[in-house]
Amino acid sequence: MVADGVHVLVALAVVFLAFRAERPEPYLVAALAAIFPDIDVYLLPVLVDSGYVHGPVWAHRGMTHSLLGGCVVVLGLSYFGPWRAAAAGFISHIALDFVTGGVYLLAPVTSVRYGVSGGWLLLNMLASVVSVTVILTGSRYLRTEGSLDRSPGDVADAFTDRFG
Ligand SMILES: [Zn+2]
Repeated sequence: MVADGVHVLVALAVVFLAFRAERPEPYLVAALAAIFPDIDVYLLPVLVDSGYVHGPVWAHRGMTHSLLGGCVVVLGLSYFGPWRAAAAGFISHIALDFVTGGVYLLAPVTSVRYGVSGGWLLLNMLASVVSVTVILTGSRYLRTEGSLDRSPGDVADAFTDRFG
């Protein structure tokens, strides 16, 4: 099990690394896309208990963690921000869940759960530390250096000058 906060941290770090956005929209849609899949923990038991849906793809890590669910989430959030940021947030969630027990990636086409069972506690800690480091160094960079026109080499040089 990956904590919701870890999903958000990883999504924010991925969006920063991929886009280095200064505006809030990419981070907002990435965070929402990263927490949306786990809405099944709260919503699906009600639907299953009411008899509206049944089967393994309607369990936790089912439909909301599938490619179809991802398309719906990214399409919906693209109204509020860049679709690539929403996709990055959703994919980061699925990747973390993939290595901590698996997901029903192709639901509802098949009810096969894809993934491996890794150490979720260690993964939570490592992902949190790496993500917070990226976010803090990135926010410091945006505040002090402040240009998105720099090449990755310029960013590395600025980082080395400041910290190395
Ligand atoms: Zn999940």
